Amino acid sequence: MMAANPLEQRPLGKTGLKVSCVGFGASPLGNVFGVVSESDAIAIVRRAFHLGINFFDTSPYYGGTLSEKMLGKGLKALEVPRNQYIVSTKCGRYKEGFDFSAERVTKSIDESLERLQLDYVDFLQCHDIEFGSLDQIVTETLPALVKLKETGKVKFVGITGLPLEVFTYVLERVPPGTVDVVLSYCHYGINDNTLEEVVPYLKSKGVGIISASPLAMGLLTESGAPDWHPASPQLKAACEAAAAHCKEKGKNISKLALQYSLCNKDISTILVGMNSVKQVDENVDAAIEFATVGKDEKTLAEIEGILKPVKNQTWASGIQQS
Ligand code: NAD
Repeated sequence: MMAANPLEQRPLGKTGLKVSCVGFGASPLGNVFGVVSESDAIAIVRRAFHLGINFFDTSPYYGGTLSEKMLGKGLKALEVPRNQYIVSTKCGRYKEGFDFSAERVTKSIDESLERLQLDYVDFLQCHDIEFGSLDQIVTETLPALVKLKETGKVKFVGITGLPLEVFTYVLERVPPGTVDVVLSYCHYGINDNTLEEVVPYLKSKGVGIISASPLAMGLLTESGAPDWHPASPQLKAACEAAAAHCKEKGKNISKLALQYSLCNKDISTILVGMNSVKQVDENVDAAIEFATVGKDEKTLAEIEGILKPVKNQTWASGIQQS
């Protein structure tokens, strides 16, 4: 039995899908933020689904295919009809490196479906396109993905990346309707909200908008970022100071950060990586509190003050495009 579903759902572009405003980012199931056992992974997915999260995002890259396998097990264990959840995975980025060729991405979906134990994914997204040739994405990768729609293995097509300009580059060059969704990360949070400026453009192109990493991949948590985090020492230090300030006031920076990210309703879903049932509970509670009570404006203003010197600071990602 599904519990009452108080989590807000938002329409996703022109897909006709409604996604929960908090989406489940499955990279932690690939042990990206510490080890998660198989039984925990299954319990986390179950909890998320029963609290109203209907959107699950993964990639063959996360944990070198482990995330897809764990998510597949978690979804299967739900024992609910396939149309009750929405799944996205990606292609072109692998543990072994990048390959956005039509041949590789066409093979990739079959591998992903097998690991996920699914017949289709709702979205297949080109993963971190700034690491490939954007012209290849336009002329070869996306046409291959569009072809996959005809096979029924893929319902919709998307692109993901860090630099926002890659989205504009691609969307200006493909026929309308080629790209159904765009996944941006680390650009709609307390420390960096540059996605906001691009939202009207993306809307005008009719694409659904997904924003990932509201906790800036761990920067906006009490325990801090993982070792591999690419932020500058200055940005890390500012976020640590902000987290410490919240803690001192008896507040939780992760809750505030997620609530901040939920503000813009043109962004259909905020993908959060969760590696425990407790984090699922906390994040769903934060979203419900946001919808019913609103956000803690006073503490948010204080954090924004602390983060002002590093506002919108990002990091390099990808190759030099010719
Ligand atoms: P995130 O900002 O969601 O942070 C995840 C970290 O925060 C993890 O360590 C998690 O354990 C911790 N966390 C979550 N809830 C918490 C809570 N309530 N209290 C304390 N800590 C908490 O970053 P992310 O996981 O990198 O991003 C979310 C998802 O978005 C990913 O799992 C992935 O699915 C997707 N994503 C995609 C891309 C891409 O396509 N290029 C890039 C980044 C993220």
